[in-house]
Amino acid sequence: MSVKTYSALLEGNKVLSPHFKVKEFACKDGSDTILIESGLTDVLEQVFRHFGCSKINITSGYRTPTHDKKVGGKGSGNHVEGKAADFVAYDKSGDKIPSAKIVLYLEDIGVKGIGYRCGGGEYATHIDVNYRANKWYGDEKISMSKNIWDIKSGCRSFYDYLGVFRTYRVKIICSALNIRSGAGTGYTVVGTYKRGETAEILSVNAAKSWGKTDRGWICLNPSYSEAI
Ligand SMILES: [Zn+2]
Repeated sequence: MSVKTYSALLEGNKVLSPHFKVKEFACKDGSDTILIESGLTDVLEQVFRHFGCSKINITSGYRTPTHDKKVGGKGSGNHVEGKAADFVAYDKSGDKIPSAKIVLYLEDIGVKGIGYRCGGGEYATHIDVNYRANKWYGDEKISMSKNIWDIKSGCRSFYDYLGVFRTYRVKIICSALNIRSGAGTGYTVVGTYKRGETAEILSVNAAKSWGKTDRGWICLNPSYSEAI
């Protein structure tokens, strides 16, 4: 990972990765110099593949200090260092993908600098690859500096912040585990998982003691299954 300096005039059409060229990261003030951290295109390509995008528009990449101040920045920071990009991703039908979906994926793949609703828009997202010790997970519609856990107490991730259940897989560790039609032993047995089988927990009951799989509900007692 390193920041490289390019010339828009001489290298604008240079291909950085399958879907991105140097000129897409150019400062909107038309200056020739463009700084780009190579880690940015790695993350953007992962987003492209995961969502099966038709295109990703970089709405703001590199910013000169002057331009950064013009758009409300301090004239320093990740955009000025070539380590940040704001983007809008489009699905294969050409529709914009909500930032609410993108940020969950970015969190899953370990991006540390994520700005949900970049600039206040529902479809734009900020990423930076500043390799900071601490994460910055922001909601730019609410604050340009606060973390989401400063906005919503107890929240530790975008899953908590957006109220999205994070699915996970379990492996059955007892000889047979009943699958029931609802979350409780009073519900009908509709099948059985055998030892060693795995299942994805798609949601849980309010007490978090029962989990729903694609076959029905199972008791989440740790002596019956373990997260994998
Ligand atoms: Zn940004």
